[in-house]
Amino acid sequence: MRSEFLPFCKPSISDREIEAVTAVLRSGWITTGAENAGFEQDFSVRTGAPHAVALASATAGMHLALAALGIGPGDEVITPSLTWVSTANLIVLAGAKPVFVDVDRETLLVRPEAVAAAITGQTAAIVPVHYAGAPVDLDALRNIARQAGVPLIEDAAHALGTSCRGRRIGETGTTIFSFHPIKNITTGEGGMFCSDDEELALKIRRLRFHGLGVDAFDRQTQGRAPQAEVLEPGFKYNLTDLAAALGRVQLSRFDEFQQRREEIYWDYREKLAGIEELLPLRDPEYDHENARHLMIVRLDIDRAGLTRDDFMARLKERNIGTGLHFRATHLQKYYRERPGAGHDGRNGLPDTEWNSDRILSLPLFPDMRDEDVDDVIEAAKEVLSS
Ligand SMILES: *Cc1c(COP(=O)(O)O)cnc(C)c1O
Repeated sequence: MRSEFLPFCKPSISDREIEAVTAVLRSGWITTGAENAGFEQDFSVRTGAPHAVALASATAGMHLALAALGIGPGDEVITPSLTWVSTANLIVLAGAKPVFVDVDRETLLVRPEAVAAAITGQTAAIVPVHYAGAPVDLDALRNIARQAGVPLIEDAAHALGTSCRGRRIGETGTTIFSFHPIKNITTGEGGMFCSDDEELALKIRRLRFHGLGVDAFDRQTQGRAPQAEVLEPGFKYNLTDLAAALGRVQLSRFDEFQQRREEIYWDYREKLAGIEELLPLRDPEYDHENARHLMIVRLDIDRAGLTRDDFMARLKERNIGTGLHFRATHLQKYYRERPGAGHDGRNGLPDTEWNSDRILSLPLFPDMRDEDVDDVIEAAKEVLSS
């Protein structure tokens, strides 16, 4: 057994990140400024996004997007239940209703037919999730959104480096990325709103900082232009330059990170082939690039004779950390007790529930060593044979 605990994720922080953040600390300007502008620019180049607005988190981005689109009471927003809870929470907090749709059992991606079937006269937006680094079927979902006359906002928290049919996620449409420490690059906490809709991006930029009309960092005045005026009430969701400087170095190391993720992923796939109780996800059939954000497996609980939670606990006893991405939102206490606030029985969610009981994420991060993968496999085999 390993003597040292292996976390399921750990950010890769080199001396370069430490130097970049230190330089900002010494500069006299630590909140939103030149590093933010540079990070947005670098991110646009990397993803091809026409407009990029740096934010305090992806959750902040979703909040701003719903606010910018005027989503509120009487509106429905179609989204998967199998995702992080932030999207559904914000829909509820806006006074609107999340309408949960099922996902494909093997890819965990929303099924376009399920989205089409959930459209009503109240539908105000569709929020699909690019899951674990794989893209949703964007062409199909965009067609559905266009026909329904509603916006499509892509949750791209797992999708930096993902592409779908030759187009990078972020290059077209409206996307929200996350830089939480477990994501493919990190700023500590942070997010990026991207869009090819200039007006929407400008509105997000305004709402990000109190609704002020001017947001540009002005080198001469060391800050915001003094004539800035409130054009509409806004929020306080800007990213600090400490975080942006960290993000810029992470972005410059992104290719190196992805290469390592890819190697570790395929090493796992080869070694997992010998463990019948652990089923990896299937990649979607359309042409795409996968950012390999998470190494998700599903535990065959019948064959293994133990629950997923017990399996995770036994791995932990053997010093192997795992994650859970995600427990279905409609099965969380608040949503369970208020069916009207979420799933209303219009669509069954059998494949979401099946996966919610069985998924777990094995350690996958760029600084992992090959021997770490072997330790995970060995521990899993031990637990399953005991
Ligand atoms: C991480 C994550 C978010 C939230 O990102 P934050 O930056 O932590 O707000 C949203 N959706 C999904 C699918 C995520 O994994």
